[in-house]
Amino acid sequence: MSDIIKILPDNVANQIAAGEVIQRPASAVKELLENAIDAGADDIQLIIKDAGKTLIQVVDNGCGMSETDARLCFERHATSKINEAGDLFKIHTYGFRGEALASIAAIAQLEMKTKKKSDDVATSILIEGSQVKEHTSCSAADGTSIAVKNLFFNVPARRNFLKSDATETSYIIEEFNRVALVYPEKSFAFYNNGKLVSKLEKMPLRQRINSVFGHNYGERLISIDESTTVADIKGFIGKPEFARKTRGEQYFFVNKRYIKHPYLNHAVDKAYAELIPEQSYPSYFIYITIDPKNVDVNIHPAKTEVKFFDEKTLYSILKAGIRKAFGSFNITPSIDFDVDRALDFGATVFNREEGIKFPAVTINPDYNPFRNNPHSGISDETSKQHDKNLKNWETLYELGKEISANKNTDEKNEAQKEIPMEYENASFFCFGKKYILTPMKSGLLFIDIVPARERILYEKFLETAENQSPVCQRLLFPKTITLPPADAELLSDIMKEMRLLGFDIEAFGKNTFVVNGVPSDLLDEDINETIERLMESYKKNQLEASCEKKINLIRSLAKNMAARTDLKLTDETMQALAGQLFASSMPDTSPSGKKILFILSNEEIEKKFK
Ligand code: ADP
Ligand code: MG
Repeated sequence: MSDIIKILPDNVANQIAAGEVIQRPASAVKELLENAIDAGADDIQLIIKDAGKTLIQVVDNGCGMSETDARLCFERHATSKINEAGDLFKIHTYGFRGEALASIAAIAQLEMKTKKKSDDVATSILIEGSQVKEHTSCSAADGTSIAVKNLFFNVPARRNFLKSDATETSYIIEEFNRVALVYPEKSFAFYNNGKLVSKLEKMPLRQRINSVFGHNYGERLISIDESTTVADIKGFIGKPEFARKTRGEQYFFVNKRYIKHPYLNHAVDKAYAELIPEQSYPSYFIYITIDPKNVDVNIHPAKTEVKFFDEKTLYSILKAGIRKAFGSFNITPSIDFDVDRALDFGATVFNREEGIKFPAVTINPDYNPFRNNPHSGISDETSKQHDKNLKNWETLYELGKEISANKNTDEKNEAQKEIPMEYENASFFCFGKKYILTPMKSGLLFIDIVPARERILYEKFLETAENQSPVCQRLLFPKTITLPPADAELLSDIMKEMRLLGFDIEAFGKNTFVVNGVPSDLLDEDINETIERLMESYKKNQLEASCEKKINLIRSLAKNMAARTDLKLTDETMQALAGQLFASSMPDTSPSGKKILFILSNEEIEKKFK
């Protein structure tokens, strides 16, 4: 048999390797910024156009490269940062693999100008798809400027895989912030589509955090400072009262490298337990310095995980450090009196002399929850709604028979066909504030309230958006809201869709918005919290399923509103909920895929007594 193995040509190998290192414009930004830092620069500019798809340029005043190095740096495994394998265990630079520039040059048109202070002239190199097109001398300032144009020009599949400009830009902003937050002693500038969007002078860390996140952010922070033999932990944590509903500013840096670390994050959560409401996230900027021997950063360049050799100790130090920081600011968890109150029986204390009285239950056999009760005290408007729901039930009752007899439409699923038809003189019970139960001919119907509301709200908002008939309730006092930069970029991007749902929001300076009006259902809500939650689920949906902006927004809004816990479960509301649910296109599954209802059949119930 003839030999079949071939060595891939360099440019093909480079292109394949590039895919691992550079997945999107933000990855190139990260690599270029890190190279500038490794080169000792203390003034760095980032310039992007069209979310980095047209241009990403980083200009630094670092050490520059000689003419030979300027050519060599584009070779794979060309690095000045390690000399021997042993160096791997004491890395103090970001780079060491010598892959980034080779990768970027394989998938873009790249122009570099670089000059060492000790050299008289600068070198200019033009390289495209790994091919050097030009290599000349030129004049330039000390340092390096690298312009990456038309990223993925020769890998269309990658280009198509990119998200919207707003999303890609938000990833770039995040990379920029991660570097800016580690080097307050360096100055940075960020230009987006020709506009200077961020200028950060050299400043102390608290002020740097303040400049990145704006609006007296620094005042929300408490400093943390723990020095131990295992590691030093410094930085800032947010005062508990500023915890947000969006997982915004949570930063761990290890030896100046941004990392994600669920286990350490858990230590923070534990330290904040009882100080902040459930499902809110504290902000933190935690800088861990640890001997490189005790941490493994030799991981995939595009990933942000590291492995500590002694995680448990670090966990305890971090948690204790945060607690100590709270202590010095007189913030300590208070006892939750609500919990204790549940144990206070008060006047209902059992009285031995009286004996046990069973509660009396009177049943009105004529009761029909669908009959309009003139004495119920419900307003005209509610009563009209009530009529409509009643009609829904009746129509569905009839329709159900028809549907099951005639056809099998896709939208009207099994449960919908069965349930309304079988529905029989219902009364509704609420169970555990979570479920609505109602007896039927064939058994007992259980409705899970939260996903049911999610389905109803989803369809309602969808209809509003599609008919372009939002009802916007103007706020008496407009509210301002400041978001983390990446969230702010996203919110600007979905402003049009927000308007379709009845939000009246305007941009108002850096990362800040003014909310003039909201959909009428949201009038009683904490607006800041609602928008933060909304952004949080929007981002989550974006990661999980790439759906249309409008649909994502509607899904997020419905999900958040459905989770409200202050719902009063009266006969009317339970009935209205069931009515609206069965009038929806898919009563048994919520838009996020959760089961809404099931029937415990008569047979199953009977079996339980056997
Ligand atoms: P690594 O950073 O892993 O060494 P890169 O491909 O990112 O690999 O860079 C290759 C080499 O090019 C670096 O080791 C460094 O010597 C040089 N280099 C890259 N960017 C710069 C820069 N901005 N200033 C000076 N030298 C640079
Ligand atoms: Mg590098």
